[in-house]
Amino acid sequence: KKITIAIDGFSSTGKSTLAKELAMHLGYVYVDTGAMYRAVAFFAMQKGFIRKDFFDKESLIKSLPNIKLVFKFNSDLGFAEMYLNGINIEKEIRTIEVSNFVSLVAEISEVRSKLVEQQQEMGKNKDIVMDGRDIGTIVFPDADLKIFMTASPMTRAERRFKELQKKGDKVTFDEVLKNVEERDYIDTHRDDSPLVKAIDAIEFDNSNVTKQEQFEKVLKLVKF
Ligand code: C5P
Repeated sequence: KKITIAIDGFSSTGKSTLAKELAMHLGYVYVDTGAMYRAVAFFAMQKGFIRKDFFDKESLIKSLPNIKLVFKFNSDLGFAEMYLNGINIEKEIRTIEVSNFVSLVAEISEVRSKLVEQQQEMGKNKDIVMDGRDIGTIVFPDADLKIFMTASPMTRAERRFKELQKKGDKVTFDEVLKNVEERDYIDTHRDDSPLVKAIDAIEFDNSNVTKQEQFEKVLKLVKF
């Protein structure tokens, strides 16, 4: 039987770290759905459809058929990188600018249905670990294991700030905290597929646990 593991939760809760490790350990495919929403936001920025205090949603919706998203496995890195219309945009989608716009793009129903369809397709014939906001609720409601991750906004902002600093991004801690809080708000209040814990998901608050402790706890739940 094909196995599906869904990992959902707030931004910067360590979802992707956990999902990557699980996938590697189990030999499953890992899919970062946040990267897909980020890629659409990056596309909208490039085309001039979105900038500060401006968003031409209609043009983005009309252009959706021109957005081709592909994950290509990079064996040096040990995970797949995001390609938009044939171009590697893995670095570009991790900036604070993309983080500031992505939740606005992810509110659009047409964007969500396009990406959800592609995500369901990716999970069809493979054992998969997928992380995002709506994996256990919308993309794979019948997933074999559902994890819902939380942590305090402070913990998450600190984690994200360190990551961005390491990459040389000149962002301030306050900007990162504001972004985390704004995305939480938009992600939990949108009309279409708001971020909620699936009833059958197991919740983990990882404010005070190490990555290793977290991984071991989750691994105990893998009994297929
Ligand atoms: O996971 P990550 O923080 O990279 O996701 C970026 C944004 O993409 C989230 O804040 C959310 O607005 C959106 N997203 C979503 N549904 C998903 C994954 C991400 O709406 N399944």
